[in-house]
Amino acid sequence: MSTRTAEFQHLLELSALVGADPALVQAAGGNTSIKEKGTLWIKASGTWLMNALTAEIMVPVALSPLLQAMDENNPLAERSESFVLKDQNPGGLRPSIETTVHAALPQKIVVHVHCVETIAIAARHDAVTVLATLLDDFNWRYVPYVRPGLPLSRSIVKSLHDDHNTPADVIILGNHGLVVAAESVTDVQRLLSRVCSALKQPVRQALPADQNKLERLVAGYDYQLPVDAEAHHVALDDISLQVASAGSLYPDHVIFLGEGSVLALKNETPAQVAQRCVKADQAEPVSILFPGIGVVMKNGCSSGAQALARCLSDVCARIPSTTAVNYLTAAQNYELLHWDAEQYRQTLNTPDHTKENNHLNG
Ligand SMILES: [Zn+2]
Repeated sequence: MSTRTAEFQHLLELSALVGADPALVQAAGGNTSIKEKGTLWIKASGTWLMNALTAEIMVPVALSPLLQAMDENNPLAERSESFVLKDQNPGGLRPSIETTVHAALPQKIVVHVHCVETIAIAARHDAVTVLATLLDDFNWRYVPYVRPGLPLSRSIVKSLHDDHNTPADVIILGNHGLVVAAESVTDVQRLLSRVCSALKQPVRQALPADQNKLERLVAGYDYQLPVDAEAHHVALDDISLQVASAGSLYPDHVIFLGEGSVLALKNETPAQVAQRCVKADQAEPVSILFPGIGVVMKNGCSSGAQALARCLSDVCARIPSTTAVNYLTAAQNYELLHWDAEQYRQTLNTPDHTKENNHLNG
């Protein structure tokens, strides 16, 4: 491993901090980067930001050749793997699927998070109006939803060049999350904190789930209770339930929990819900929402699925009842589920691979 600069080390510290906050990052989501001497160091695909100080999570990518490939619409830019500096990547890690987003921004430090406050606004029909009020003090852009990866970095580049002002340092990604950028880690951390505070939304509360009832519900079935009790909220709050039941709100939900949300009908058991899905040519659900009771998760589901189950509650609890919501279209859901870069990332987050990966990097 090459010697880290103090700024690089500072970024790893910030990455670990941000990665450990479920309101900012869930599982392997989110990514950070630093540009140093022509190299873009970017979080590796499938690794977790929270492990930034205990495992190798950063991959070096040659910045100029990658930018040139993006400019020329070279399909190799999509995965960015061809631009990895292999001699400085002994673990053979792959760059994040969002590498081109980081490359496209001119600032030295870029932090991208799936901040629940941001997503709750960025999924709203009136997102731009709401953001215009809340982000009045910031140099920000809104980029409507496109698939993460090259399509998203192209949209960001377009938004940066739509006027002649200084490049934006806050980018809100429709139905996805937040990007902040600055010339130093200290500045990016301050900016992230200011933006997240500005976007804070009222959170609806619900009574806690009845644990005994939930235990009885899963007893004898291939389902278990979620690791985070916060995950139940979405099933206990009528408005959240309504928001969640109408479709997929953001990409990592689709990747780790499948398209939309599956709601149990009255008196159905987990097995009956699963059978109903299979009969309708769908996979057995990773999570099932039992209205008024709570959420159950399939046995052996990934740690990513667990984190995204909690995220759904956190996001939906911040969407007001009166608001129209943008959902991912059928085509957008499909492209997320049939995209090999995402399938790779998901593989790294199955229970076995998570262990293996930690071991490999630990
Ligand atoms: Zn993202």
